[in-house]
Amino acid sequence: MRRGTCRTAASVAVAAAAVLTALTAMAADGPIAPPAPLPATVIAIKAGRLLDVRTGQYRSDVYITVEQGRITALGASAPAGAHIVDLSSKVVMPGIIDVHVHTGDDLFDHSAATRMRVSAAQSALNGAYKVHQYLMHGVTTLRDAGETNVYYPQFALRDSIAKGLIEGPRMLCAGMLISVSGGHSDDDTTAVDFGLPKRPNIADTVDELRVAVRRDLKYGADWIKLMASGGVSDLYSDFRSQELSEEQMVAAVELAHRAGRRVMAHAEGTAGIRAAVRAGVDSIEHGTMLDEESATMMAAKGIWLVPTLATFQIEPGTAAGMDAVMLRKLRDILQYQQPAFALALKHHLNIAFGDDDEAQRVGPEFAALVKGGMTPLAAVQAATVNGARLLGLESETGAIETGKSADIIAVDADPLADIGAMKQVSFVMAAGRIISQP
Ligand SMILES: [Zn+2]
Repeated sequence: MRRGTCRTAASVAVAAAAVLTALTAMAADGPIAPPAPLPATVIAIKAGRLLDVRTGQYRSDVYITVEQGRITALGASAPAGAHIVDLSSKVVMPGIIDVHVHTGDDLFDHSAATRMRVSAAQSALNGAYKVHQYLMHGVTTLRDAGETNVYYPQFALRDSIAKGLIEGPRMLCAGMLISVSGGHSDDDTTAVDFGLPKRPNIADTVDELRVAVRRDLKYGADWIKLMASGGVSDLYSDFRSQELSEEQMVAAVELAHRAGRRVMAHAEGTAGIRAAVRAGVDSIEHGTMLDEESATMMAAKGIWLVPTLATFQIEPGTAAGMDAVMLRKLRDILQYQQPAFALALKHHLNIAFGDDDEAQRVGPEFAALVKGGMTPLAAVQAATVNGARLLGLESETGAIETGKSADIIAVDADPLADIGAMKQVSFVMAAGRIISQP
């Protein structure tokens, strides 16, 4: 044992010396360079079939030229000297935009108590693992839909990706899950004798709501997340009931919009959806009990719906540690999902793609959208051009067009013929970096 310890200590000393030498060299050369600079070479991707997600049309044998992370040309030939990536047997399309992800959630424990057990540090590391999984499933942009941990692990993750410290999709983040006491995101599940101090995501008055929103804005939220109704994955809330008041949500929208940020509302029950829509939020998440009146209001105001269908359709056996009360709510809520989704399609609502779970649910969410009545093209649009519009990134990503970020994936078969093809992503490029290839 002692000899082993000595060897470890010796190798740590050698490694530390090497790091010190490298840092000294970098300091002598000026500022430390980004850890992963973009490849200097010009890359030309040969697409056997290139899907135009705006029209559903295919172009054959197109070369996509990528320089310094951007698409610089689409044409019949590659520039001289370019590094060729041969995807001539594949269907090439823009990277997926998933607008409802919780990066910090524990992968193995979905019980009510998990929220009191996961530190901000662990949450950020859960996220570091999850964002890699999302990349491998073709997700090149994601919106964190808010985190249970109120110390913003998701902002650290987003900023570390932007700095090149770790590899991940482009990230936009909501802040805390702002909730009423006893609501969908009141994570103190101890008995009254043991009650924890009130957490900063709990807002029972308009003023408390303003404080919570200002905290989010101060520390870097791109989106504000409101709990307009109860939900499934908690012990106390009723998903049918409205939670935050309309007055609170009006105040949140006013503050966020004034600061140039947007607002997303978790809303399952009809009353919560109606109040959030009247308050002027930018997106309704889930919308599981959408009715004619709320669908009509959403269509008139251009408010987005992120339906997250598949996460409600999971088999109880796969719901890692969910409490019995959550499983019962999961069974209850499912009856409302399909009629609401049919209404959303009937009213031609703006729909964006969100999985609300983990990377393995991306493929099933595409399948659920199509099973629910969307055309395969509409499902692909929800996850590309529509997601980009919702996030205000339409000039940056969401389509393979000259000038846009090189967010490019390939699948083995035609997703417009069989949406199941979205489960087999065999090539991923995110902002010009090749993440995986056949
Ligand atoms: Zn969610």
